[in-house]
Amino acid sequence: MQNILNFMQAICAAEDIYLDSLPDLERLGGVAIKASDDIRAVVYSDKLTGWSQISTIAHELGHHALGHFDDDAYLCKNISDKNPEIERREREAQIFAAAFTAFAIYDLFTELGGMTL
Ligand SMILES: [Zn+2]
Repeated sequence: MQNILNFMQAICAAEDIYLDSLPDLERLGGVAIKASDDIRAVVYSDKLTGWSQISTIAHELGHHALGHFDDDAYLCKNISDKNPEIERREREAQIFAAAFTAFAIYDLFTELGGMTL
């Protein structure tokens, strides 16, 4: 799991996206922030561990990759929010996260010499 987190950290560094955890995010698992074209961040709750941490970071990276910022910041709201545009963006970020984490796992297995089934 640490290798995948290292991969995520390398992607954020390469894309110049600040990545860190914070306490007291309350009910938010994570948040993607775009203060300007040059100041972007992914912040996640320090209560998250293991796969929850990885999938949250990937989800927030999805908001950046998919250009989900029409305001200064885009907060992941509850998926049950009835705003159709927010629901669409959340689904897109989830799909991105699934594909991205699958790629990260494949890349790491390849780097480690391949996977035997
Ligand atoms: Zn989201």
